[in-house]
Amino acid sequence: MSHLLEYTRKGIYCPQADIYIDPSRRVENAIITHAHGDHARPGSKHYLAHKHSEPVLRMRLGEQISLRTVEYGESFTINGVRFSLHPAGHIIGSAQIRVEYKGEVWVVSGDYKLQNDNFCAPFEPVKCHVFITETTFGLSKFKWQPQQTVIDEITNWTIKNHSEGKTSVLMGYALGKMQRLLVNLPKFDFPVYAHSSIVKLHDRLCEAGLQLPDVIPLKQTHTANSLKGCLVLSQPSAADNLWLRKLTDYSVGFCSGWVGAFEKKKHTSYHQGFVLSDHSDWDELNTAVKETGAQCIYTTHGYTSEFSKWLRVCGLQSKELENMNNTSEQMVMSLPELNND
Ligand SMILES: [Zn+2]
Ligand SMILES: [Zn+2]
Repeated sequence: MSHLLEYTRKGIYCPQADIYIDPSRRVENAIITHAHGDHARPGSKHYLAHKHSEPVLRMRLGEQISLRTVEYGESFTINGVRFSLHPAGHIIGSAQIRVEYKGEVWVVSGDYKLQNDNFCAPFEPVKCHVFITETTFGLSKFKWQPQQTVIDEITNWTIKNHSEGKTSVLMGYALGKMQRLLVNLPKFDFPVYAHSSIVKLHDRLCEAGLQLPDVIPLKQTHTANSLKGCLVLSQPSAADNLWLRKLTDYSVGFCSGWVGAFEKKKHTSYHQGFVLSDHSDWDELNTAVKETGAQCIYTTHGYTSEFSKWLRVCGLQSKELENMNNTSEQMVMSLPELNND
């Protein structure tokens, strides 16, 4: 028996439509959930993604790629299979992929979060029979604070550093985290600089018509003195932070869901951690699974086996995506009626 979606060495594949979702290798046809590097890889012949993924996809995969873009909820059919993209709330343009064929509905979540970050379209649950969910933070110990709580922590830290004449260096992923910070942090009465990798993205998104607060590009010519008391946004990569050496009095803050997760490891790369993730925490994953109404859930990325085991405890059918092809047929044979309320 072949499934509507299969797991192959090139990634998630729909044989009926001959198209892959976030393929890990070059393929003919690829639907891309979002523009992060582990989902959007170069070299495929034709791409399809949400229109807000376009600026970053062209920047990262090549300006000339063959790319068709769609709106959320706009459906298109390939060889009888109906596809549509729905907001995943993860980063700008991120989408869940709904796949329907002969009354059977599968949804591939891509990466997602349920908290509204005030920049990308908020997550929308999509009813389906089979849900393929990411489980990056699929352990019960992962529990996020409301976004505003973390933004307030960051704001207070920045203002305190400013009052002490220190430069605040705030680090996080350039795509996703930085736009989220910029949109949600208050307007400070001191300048906000950004590393060139962040500015490049920022400019592309603004050119595409997306609204983001201004940042000042960080330049070689900036001295420790000129950055005193200011906020600088940067990426965690070491190469991006050579400029840090010129600072004398500064504090490095790091924004990630992983902050505090491994208490025993000593972090020397930052002074202050802020638990801010663009993925779902444990409760959000459970809520999302429940809202799909799916009886069959495949897990991918992160704590796949742990979360799958938990779902089975909850009475659902669940396996890790990697084991999909060894799945006994009963896993998707008896699909219940979808409750479309
Ligand atoms: Zn991602
Ligand atoms: Zn990812």
